[in-house]
Amino acid sequence: MSPEARRIRLVLELRSAGITDTRVLSAMERVRRELFVPETFRDRASEDVALPIGRQQTVSQPSVVARMSQALEVGDRDKVLEIGTGSGYQSAVLCHLCRRLYTVERHPVLLREAEARLAKLGLTNVTARVGDGTAGWPEQAPFDRVMVTAAGEDILEALLAQVAVGGIMVAPVGIGERDQRLVRVRRTEDGADTEDLGAARFVPLVAGVEPE
Ligand code: SAH
Repeated sequence: MSPEARRIRLVLELRSAGITDTRVLSAMERVRRELFVPETFRDRASEDVALPIGRQQTVSQPSVVARMSQALEVGDRDKVLEIGTGSGYQSAVLCHLCRRLYTVERHPVLLREAEARLAKLGLTNVTARVGDGTAGWPEQAPFDRVMVTAAGEDILEALLAQVAVGGIMVAPVGIGERDQRLVRVRRTEDGADTEDLGAARFVPLVAGVEPE
């Protein structure tokens, strides 16, 4: 089966698994996941599994990327912050959904590789930087949407403070692989409303930046 045919099959599977947002489905149909994984895993890129990308990190399962992207309710005028660029796959999907994406990664090598992939795909509405995402990106705040792709102990106040009123943050919360939950927080005038979106399994959010 060609990579295109496999990607179409994956999108049909996502649809039957409850992803109904047509913008998310078409973004996932456009982004070639095989370009975001190491050569050895290329033939598994259209399977719904997390795959290693080096530095003990993984690119999330397509169904998780779809679920998070849908939960974020991204509009095409939105300014979005992503914490944990990793391979850049989720970033590429977000680039198709939003006006401008800011993405932060603590591993310089992963960030460089991700940036090269995004540039090669002609995605120009993204700005990426090496940094500790637990601090967000204060110079660019506020954001309409914030997505965190590594699990912290709790919702980070520093990040929530960078969400515009009316904006949304989606993040995995909890330590340990068994107890994590995916959480959606809607920022209101006087605080925030939190919703539990179900079980999750992400690599941990780690403070500080790795050396080169
Ligand atoms: N969204 C990625 C998957 C990322 S895995 C993809 O589609 O490939 C989570 C990523 O978060 C890892 O690359 C990890 O290095 C990064 N990360 C963990 N803690 C971080 C922090 N404090 N700041 C920035 N990035 C962080």
